[in-house]
Amino acid sequence: MEMLFCYCCRVHHPKDQMRLYATGRGLRWRCRRSIVAAGLSRGERDAFGRQQTDRNRNAARLSAEFGQQQRRLRPLEA
Ligand SMILES: [Zn+2]
Repeated sequence: MEMLFCYCCRVHHPKDQMRLYATGRGLRWRCRRSIVAAGLSRGERDAFGRQQTDRNRNAARLSAEFGQQQRRLRPLEA
């Protein structure tokens, strides 16, 4: 089995686990596992960011609805 140097792990892996990967310095061999790991962590960060955005949007909507209720209630109290 041919071994190729993985620029990500800095070790050699069997060629069937390797993918050519475009970097700022040209094409480098990188193992599929490191590409998947990097992609997963990026995906998790995106999911976390979306959750925060949803939470903020819900909080803004709830406080807006609460403010409308307060305005609607005021004439009845008067
Ligand atoms: Zn690797």
